[in-house]
Amino acid sequence: MKEDDQEIEIIETAAQEEEPWCLHCHNFSDYRKKWDTIRRSDLEGGAYSENVVVPQCIACEKPMLFLSTAKKLTWSVYALSTLTWLLGLCSVLFLFGLSPGSIFGLIVLGGFCYLVSRLPQKSRQALQSHQQARREESLKNLLQKL
Ligand SMILES: [Zn+2]
Repeated sequence: MKEDDQEIEIIETAAQEEEPWCLHCHNFSDYRKKWDTIRRSDLEGGAYSENVVVPQCIACEKPMLFLSTAKKLTWSVYALSTLTWLLGLCSVLFLFGLSPGSIFGLIVLGGFCYLVSRLPQKSRQALQSHQQARREESLKNLLQKL
């Protein structure tokens, strides 16, 4: 029981101390924390400001992204757009029936959903560059072994 607790604690600190990824340097480069304030509106119609920490790359001075956040964002947008399209497909099949008009509508909806799924551009770029860097690294390791 006690070991389980310890394990959970270790996992939690690991998640908190995730290194941010620099999209421009393609690396987990050194960063500094920059405080930023975001103005948010509250439920009573007023506004309050919230402090957020933005990691900033020391090498290129650009804001960095956390890969876990990027992954979550990308996948939730993918899921949402796929779900929207499936809903459209269901309504065409069950409500309107197949006709040239409804198929055309479905294609337009498909295009729209595709565009929506491309929206988190920075997050997708970050994930792609991270994957590419990992691939290059494993290739390098392989070449060293040969
Ligand atoms: Zn950088």
